[in-house]
Amino acid sequence: MKYDLMHPADQIVMIMERIYGYGMTTTSGGNLSILDDNGDIWITPGSVDKGSLTRKDIICIHPDGSTTGPHKPSVEYPFHKSVYDRRPDVRAVLHAHPPALIAFSIARKIPDTTIIPNIHIICGEVGIAEYEVPGSEALGENIASILVKDINTVILENHGLVTVADDLFQAFMQFETLDYCANLEIKSRQIGKPVSLTSDQIELASKKHPERLAEFVPQTVSSAEKDARHKMCELIHRAYDQRLFTSTQGTFSQRLSDDSFLITPFNIDRKYLEVGDIVRIDGGKREKGKFPSRSVNLHREIYRKKGEINSLIIAPPPNIMAFGITKEKFDTRTIPESYVMLRDIPVMEYGTNIVNPEKITRTLSEKTPILMIENECIIVSGSSLLNAFDRLEVAEFSAKAVISTHFIGPVISISDDEIEDLKKVFSLA
Ligand SMILES: [Zn+2]
Repeated sequence: MKYDLMHPADQIVMIMERIYGYGMTTTSGGNLSILDDNGDIWITPGSVDKGSLTRKDIICIHPDGSTTGPHKPSVEYPFHKSVYDRRPDVRAVLHAHPPALIAFSIARKIPDTTIIPNIHIICGEVGIAEYEVPGSEALGENIASILVKDINTVILENHGLVTVADDLFQAFMQFETLDYCANLEIKSRQIGKPVSLTSDQIELASKKHPERLAEFVPQTVSSAEKDARHKMCELIHRAYDQRLFTSTQGTFSQRLSDDSFLITPFNIDRKYLEVGDIVRIDGGKREKGKFPSRSVNLHREIYRKKGEINSLIIAPPPNIMAFGITKEKFDTRTIPESYVMLRDIPVMEYGTNIVNPEKITRTLSEKTPILMIENECIIVSGSSLLNAFDRLEVAEFSAKAVISTHFIGPVISISDDEIEDLKKVFSLA
């Protein structure tokens, strides 16, 4: 999807629908703005239902202070204005009140962005602005004074969050990533103590550049490939809607033939992914003009060595990753569905996928279809797209249930004899 040709009012409506639709703000809370090339600021109105906003509701504030539109601009316009005045590089401001980040704002703390490397890479340093009355010039001053330090994401004490960027989609990605981080840290604290990464460890992940593979021009596109592209998009959108993927995190691939597979592209918002965005890899070459996910070589090695695996997903869903960042054991021997689908999940050290991918290829098998990399992701394999997706869902749902069990009573696992029975009944290897 091409965002740069979309009218600012349409961009604002699209992103507000997304924020409200995913429960990341209330109907009265949250406001978005875009500064266009004329110097006009387009902003959400105050006191209009965020659940039914249309492009006609968006207000335009001209450089002379006059406004166009049927409503008053958001009461929080003063801080948007002070951000644009102080940061000439900023073209979009996003403000919302998502529950997990409000929790941090009430405790006056910043979520730990070093628990997963991607969070830190996307959000950078996060600031915190002192409390002031909403809509006041003083609040604008407090926010702008943090943003001048080249920080793009700010927690507002006892209030919510502000992100700024050179476009609204980027501001949304920062916002969504920090919200994911806050949720992940809260879940982790329910079962243990989160372990942070060092700056050297984060550096390791930022060196994972999109692979500079040679290109090829596909001569034909088989019906099987068209079908696989369509199904991949459908499941990626579903994974996004279920919060298994975020806009920037989550890789899916599907084998086409011996050394040919389809994979998600690098850095394209998962919410809007289209069949044409998916990248075909043939004999280690990438489809002309497209960049595959950075884990492309790992996918290729697994497909080359493991004939029974036809689909892979790499993702960090928050419930299962709570175990991955606290080093608490995630026990799959808790319900039959979980053990039958996931078996026992080996845990590997952070960075294994970068420094020792052979270990992952060796470990994945029918008996071990899924594994966890600490502070990074889970790697899920399947005999088909749907089989891998099913496992991802079961892993996340089971993890969520086990976290909830902690508030009810001790986790009681299924006994070894009962596991043996399951193996017989379900013909498990
Ligand atoms: Zn607010």
